[in-house]
Amino acid sequence: MNAPVTRSAHPKITSSHLDRVAIVYVRQSTLAQVRDNTESTARQYALADQAVRLGWRRASVEVIDADLGLSGRSAEHRAGFRELVGQVCEGRVGAILGLEISRLARSSADLSRLLELARLTDTLVIDADGVYDLGDFNDRLLLGLKGTMSEAELHVLAGRLQGAKRAAAQRGELRFPLPVGLVYDDDGATVIDPDQEVQSAVADVFASFRTTGSAYGVVAAFKGRRFPLRAYGGIWAGQLRWGRLTHSRVLGILSNPAYAGCYVFGRFRSRRMVRPDATVATTTVELPRAQWPVVIHDHHPGFICWDDYLANEARLAANTTNQGARPPREGVALCQGILICGGCGRPMSTRYHRDGHAAYECAASRADQMATPDCRSVRAATLDDAVAERLLAALNPQEVALALAAATEVADRRARVSRAAELATERARYQAERAERAFVACEPENRLVARSLEARWEAKLVAQAEAEQALAATQAQLAPLPEPAELHALTSDLPRLWHAPTTSAKDRKRMLRTLIADVTVLPEPDRAKLRVGIRWHSGATEELLTGRRPSAVQTRRTPDGVIQLLRRLGPQRTDAELADELNQTGYLTGSGRAFDVKAVRWLRHIHHVPAPAPFATGELSAPQPAAGACHSHPRSRRPAVRRWPTRPTSSPQPQPLLQEVQFEASVGTPRILTPRPPDFGISTAFTGGGK
Ligand SMILES: [Zn+2]
Repeated sequence: MNAPVTRSAHPKITSSHLDRVAIVYVRQSTLAQVRDNTESTARQYALADQAVRLGWRRASVEVIDADLGLSGRSAEHRAGFRELVGQVCEGRVGAILGLEISRLARSSADLSRLLELARLTDTLVIDADGVYDLGDFNDRLLLGLKGTMSEAELHVLAGRLQGAKRAAAQRGELRFPLPVGLVYDDDGATVIDPDQEVQSAVADVFASFRTTGSAYGVVAAFKGRRFPLRAYGGIWAGQLRWGRLTHSRVLGILSNPAYAGCYVFGRFRSRRMVRPDATVATTTVELPRAQWPVVIHDHHPGFICWDDYLANEARLAANTTNQGARPPREGVALCQGILICGGCGRPMSTRYHRDGHAAYECAASRADQMATPDCRSVRAATLDDAVAERLLAALNPQEVALALAAATEVADRRARVSRAAELATERARYQAERAERAFVACEPENRLVARSLEARWEAKLVAQAEAEQALAATQAQLAPLPEPAELHALTSDLPRLWHAPTTSAKDRKRMLRTLIADVTVLPEPDRAKLRVGIRWHSGATEELLTGRRPSAVQTRRTPDGVIQLLRRLGPQRTDAELADELNQTGYLTGSGRAFDVKAVRWLRHIHHVPAPAPFATGELSAPQPAAGACHSHPRSRRPAVRRWPTRPTSSPQPQPLLQEVQFEASVGTPRILTPRPPDFGISTAFTGGGK
């Protein structure tokens, strides 16, 4: 068996390796590294010289550096790495040279796959320390060991860095980019930007949100006005630029606790997830406020206070209609957004008609064909007047005096609730201190006792932390009570404020919603009545019964007396006689006018009241002689005239029609009378004889 011919100084490098190419793989994780850490890049390129020293011809050494500035975590976007793998698979690579190939082999799945391929195709791996033949067990072991150590090294390093970072953050000293409007001063403290224009722009965002109540409202208020942006990183770093205030920026500003003077660390967390195509994606997610690891209030001067921040957050949440919220809108319908259908239980929608009046409708149920007989449409004014009246009545001074008395009781009850938690915390604290004293007093030599005392102290500390958490939760659950003086001022002002022309519909809705949780249109068998259920925020409920305005159909209905008279006299009297009779009795039509022939004709048509015969005794109408003279079978009768001509109503002599009638009635007809059609445009037909 011949030993492989070697032309290299290194025993592991054979001519088989040298006949193939040597690839130097150069990579840096980030563009910042490429820019700043030039030494590392130079070292990586220097590997090409090492390949030549090891015996490769200069022409056979290729450098793949397409991945500079790309992270090594995944091969997905790295064209250079894919090219390297492709060449190794083809078997045309004798050696791969790279500083981090051996180091990262364990922590990167792509690299370990590459090494497996290198083993199958007898490709060497070369780094600054030496040459590894992956077919050799010892080399594989060595590479594995280096990978494990590098992994441990990375872990320790990252742990140390993260630990230091967390400790600095706990003290509120870790610096990170501040949002526009806040800057670090020379001592590193966070202060409000001294630039007056920046200050007022940021302050106006909060002021606009207070008045408009929505982020889109703030954007509209800043239309045509520029807004500052502080750049971080890149060539613009630290510079102030001006641009447009967008909706997403407004949301970012309103939800940033830094503007409330609060230092927060860990608001966002990056999360890695595996996509269906097995690639790994990293996304940034915002954590719920309860999970923020570091929150330091009053850390620096802010534009708003913490309570304002919480109120803004709640208001933004109440504006997100795609998650079911129904914020107050600009329209006049007062109960918009808080009205529920008592028939089907679904929210009612508001509809504005062309004439300006609004109505509440159970539109969702109707659209889904799920409307119940109790689902109804209500004129907004009817419902709103009843609810507004109730609201203002509930806020009269006597009621408020009662409410204040009740409020004192509520305050006492709340104090009792939190008092229990406070006492529990106090007891836990005392026990923890006692355990601590016992531990400190113990002789250090008496290790067994000291160990159990230490364990007991730790348990007491845990109990104390739990009690403190429970107290904080209890206090957080209790919303602050308004001051009695504030309530008094509100009641004397409210009716005036409510009716003031300067008060917008949106503000009225906001006032309503501070007291009323929701309003329900309850089922009511009497269609002329409206039953409304009001649920107050206090938990109390009540029902109102109010009259409904009659509908247009109801108000324009013909009086019942007219119809009775028409039925009684109609068959004997002509239309003109009937009109006179009705007018003399004092009746009016549904639309409030006096009766005329046209109106009586219409009523006859609607109520099927026949008119007296228009012929004298012995006279026949056209169909009668025609029917009598007909010799054909009665079943073959077809209408000879299907429709009256509508145009010549005053002189009804349409030639073809008359001829047809004359032809059909030509046998033994003493006289032909053409009955006039009623002139309200209803098509009428009469049948003639068959042909
Ligand atoms: Zn309904």
